[in-house]
Amino acid sequence: TLILAIESSCDETAASVVKNGREILSNIISSQIALHTLYGGVVPEIASRKHIEKINQVIEEALKQAQVTLEDIDAVGVTYGPGLVGALLVGVAEAKAIAYAAKKPLVGVHHIEGHIAANYIEHPDLEPPFLCLVVSGGHTHLVHVEDYGKFKIIGRTRDDAAGEAFDKVARAIGLGYPGGPKIDKVSREGNPEAIVFPRAHIEEAPYDFSFSGVKSAVLNYINGCKMKGEEYSQADIAASFQKAVTDVLVGNAMHAVEEYGDRKFAIAGGVASNSALRAAMAEACKEKGVEFYYPSPIYCTDNAAMIGVAAYYEFMNGTRHGWDLNAVPNLKLGERV
Ligand code: ATP
Ligand code: MG
Ligand code: FE
Repeated sequence: TLILAIESSCDETAASVVKNGREILSNIISSQIALHTLYGGVVPEIASRKHIEKINQVIEEALKQAQVTLEDIDAVGVTYGPGLVGALLVGVAEAKAIAYAAKKPLVGVHHIEGHIAANYIEHPDLEPPFLCLVVSGGHTHLVHVEDYGKFKIIGRTRDDAAGEAFDKVARAIGLGYPGGPKIDKVSREGNPEAIVFPRAHIEEAPYDFSFSGVKSAVLNYINGCKMKGEEYSQADIAASFQKAVTDVLVGNAMHAVEEYGDRKFAIAGGVASNSALRAAMAEACKEKGVEFYYPSPIYCTDNAAMIGVAAYYEFMNGTRHGWDLNAVPNLKLGERV
């Protein structure tokens, strides 16, 4: 079974061909990062226009690299939410046009279901049920994956997503956009114990997260230094912030592992490529005797391969969308629209 998958929910225009749900025949990503760096973040209108410019070429490349034609494809999968509405619409319209013209079924995919499914690519042994921490630019969810396409969200952020916090702190300490990878890199030269930033715990909801406090603490720390005319170390702030965030993510996740009794734990989303988080999770899982799964960095950030994997399982479960499929910018995980 061959799936042609399309992803355009944010600032990556991507297409992929996936065989039997787990084998990636091609994975083409056209990133707009350089373009948005000029503005310090993603500009939605620019993102949409760039998707329109790139999408045909990205899809052609994906088919070519996989050495298949549209004839060979069994279904077209596409991210239809959540994300930027104008960006999503480009992928959805394109997927509908291709599926209609080639007379192939259309399968809409939830973007976060894709991030979770990225774990299946390099771990042929991984099957539900398992626990998954989704940490991306817009989401921080602790998810119990009960079956393919069946999820129970057991914890979520009350304010900023983990990736959002990385991006905001990076901007505040002058690292620029996108913040996550830059904080990851400069942290290696810093001392994670140099500054103690707050770790938020929500008493009545032990699996929920809050990152606005640590973000404010970093801003206050910098302002304090400036007011006193003191120098501050970018690397120490980055490392200490990263440690504070990592401690909370690992703490809540391991609490859930204990409570739910799963022997398998996975991470997903852009922040899952963070080296300190990966190392800390690996150690914590080892201590608990739990198998730890994580995708290669290229499958952590936005890509269409993960959408193809999720689309395959949706397709096998009978999911089909009509020509009225629309972009749903605030689509909830597990929701069928
Ligand atoms: P969502 O998936 O929630 O819709 P998104 O698609 O914008 O949001 P992703 O592409 O999954 O998010 O991830 C991008 C985020 O990951 C950004 O916030 C980025 O800073 C962060 N990120 C990427 N690499 C790293 C890293 N090495 N360390 C920390 N954060 C990282
Ligand atoms: Mg992106
Ligand atoms: Fe994403």
